[in-house]
Parts: sequence; structure tokens; C-alpha cells
Amino acid sequence: MKNRDLLEVIFDKKKQTGPLIIAGPCSVETPDQFLNTVSQLVDQGIGIIRGGIWKPRTRPGSFEGVGSIALPWVQEAKQQMDFKFATEVASSSHVEEALKYGVDIFWIGARSTVNPFTVQEIAESLKGTDIPVMIKNPVNADLSLWIGALERIQKAGIKDIALIHRGFSNFRDKVHRNSPLWQIPIEIQTHFPELMMINDPSHISGKRELVSIIAQKALDLNFDGLMIESHRSPDTAWSDAEQQLTPQALGHLLQKLKTRKVRFEDNETLHQLEEIRMQIDQADHDLLESLHRRMELVEKIGQYKKLNNVAVLQMERWQAIFKSRPEWGKELNLNPELIRELFSLLHQESIRKQTEIMDKE
Ligand code: PEP
Ligand code: MN
Repeated sequence: MKNRDLLEVIFDKKKQTGPLIIAGPCSVETPDQFLNTVSQLVDQGIGIIRGGIWKPRTRPGSFEGVGSIALPWVQEAKQQMDFKFATEVASSSHVEEALKYGVDIFWIGARSTVNPFTVQEIAESLKGTDIPVMIKNPVNADLSLWIGALERIQKAGIKDIALIHRGFSNFRDKVHRNSPLWQIPIEIQTHFPELMMINDPSHISGKRELVSIIAQKALDLNFDGLMIESHRSPDTAWSDAEQQLTPQALGHLLQKLKTRKVRFEDNETLHQLEEIRMQIDQADHDLLESLHRRMELVEKIGQYKKLNNVAVLQMERWQAIFKSRPEWGKELNLNPELIRELFSLLHQESIRKQTEIMDKE
């Protein structure tokens, strides 16, 4: 079944003049909520609307989407306004129903991308259609799963494909709902440079204050588009309330975004520089996470010393650390002097922290 004009390729990187913007509510909730949100978004110049109809939630009991009853609401809204509609599909029955109601674009969610059975089922049901499909990264930071999902969809004959970077689960990250781990979307682009890479700052940030920062970072990194959650009254949204923006706030955000030159055509060096800097950012992030873990352990040992009434400063242990760490560093080609300085600072901080614990009533 061909359900759209083949000449119109939505995810064509070559035809792109600015970032592709997709916006809309996390979930379609009621006819009124949908119509009202969409009309405000269309007023803001949005041409592609997102909306979850079937919501794969991590835990049962959360709102799981209104389901197929929303399809006629979407169809009616499309008769009144000019927009393309994208929704998540997670099974062959979703695909069949959504196609019946003229949904324009599908996406595969992060919880589906992890499961080759699910992706294969979706791929089978897409055979013979020419619907554009966006593939979100899997919840875990596994590049092969993402590539595997993409290959299954490509093998089903789908030509119009984009990738969505929505971040990765990480219990240690206290800032993001899903850690961006920017090096992963960058790496997949080196394998598939022809595909559009869309960033989803809403699911990465998990809170609306952070959405514009992530969106800007994505554009700075040459992402091709953004998918942002927007709801007419975010606080009352049935899902992902904290991360959605009003259509007005979205319009404001889009106006403030600085779009960078799409390509450094004449300057491969600059591109390389960007990539290395990103890797440095990631390395620093990892370093800080290790530091955070170390400090948590220091606190734990402080509590333990207090409980057993043992002195904070254990000279032997400290001497052993001060000797071994520069040696370990040397094996990794690190300047032992730097390591000595670093551990001296860390030791001061550990003593300060443990003394604080000791002195507490
Ligand atoms: C969504 O887009 O609303 C959603 C559930 O996203 P993800 O699959 O990235 O969690
Ligand atoms: Mn959501």
C-alpha cells in the first residue's frame, strides 16, 4: 500500500535548509487537547506534529495511551489543519491501524528498539509501504542494537528513515533523565552519514528548564532536527508533565536557538576538532562520575569509622595510596607528579568530609 506521494521525502538531508522541527504532546489525550495543542503549534509554524497513541511505559499503572480511539481524532484534525502526524508504533497491529487512518510518519520507541523480535514484527508489517520511519536509540547505550533496528527497517524496504537520539538510561546521572552520551549518536552517523539525526531534548532532559540547553547543544553538534514535546497545559499532561513546553514557550525556544552553519564544507579540520572535543567532554563526564562515586565511598567509610570510634586519619592507608596511585598512573602513561597532586587534593577533601561526619551529633 502506498499511502503518500513518493516524491515527497521527509527525511531528505540534501534538501534541508534548516533544522527539521517535530513537536507535539507526549500523548494524545482527548480530542480537545489534541486539536487545541495542534492549532497552537501550527500557529507557531510547526508542520510535523508528534503524539503518542500507544505509550509503552516502563511501569504498569502509568498512563498507557488512549489507543486506537485517538486515530479518528487525528484524522479529523488533519482535515482542519495542514500538518503531518507522527506516532509511535510497537506492534504490527499498531502499524496496520495507524496506516488505515493515514498516519504520515512512524517512530520506533526506545523500549522497542532494544528488542529484535519487536523490531522484526514491525518491519514485517511495514513491508510494501513507503511510510517514513524514525528509529529512536535503545534505552541502553548499545550502538549495535540501534544499528540492528535500523537494518531491519531498511531490509523491509523502507527508504525514508531518520534516527532519533533520546538519551540512555543511567542511574548515576543526576542531571538528565536520560544521559545524552553524545559520542553514540555521533558514531552511528559515521556509519550512516546519509541519514538525518534528530535530537529529542525532552526525553534527555526530563525537565523543561533543560530542554533549550540540550536542543542548542544538538544544533551545535550539527544535528539535523529536533523533536520536542509540547502540550497546551504541560502541568496537567497525562504523561511526561515536567518536560513538556507550552506551544508559546516552544516558539520562543525555537526563536532563540542559534542555528550553526550546517557543514564546514571547506574545513574538515574543524569537524575533527569538534569530534575530539566531544570525546573530551565525555571523558570529563566519566571522570566526574568516578569522583562522585569515590566521595560516596569516602562518606560511607567515614560513617563506619564513626560507628567504630576509629580516627579519621589512618596514616598507613594514606601512605599506601600516595605510593600506589602515581605508580598506577605511570602504567597508564600519566605524569606521576600530576597524580600525586590530584590525590593530595582528594585526600584533603576526604579528611574534610570525614571530619564533618565525625563532628556531627
Ligand atoms: C515518547 O516519545 O513519548 C517516548 C515514550 O519516548 P522514548 O521511546 O524515547 O522513551
Ligand atoms: Mn514522552
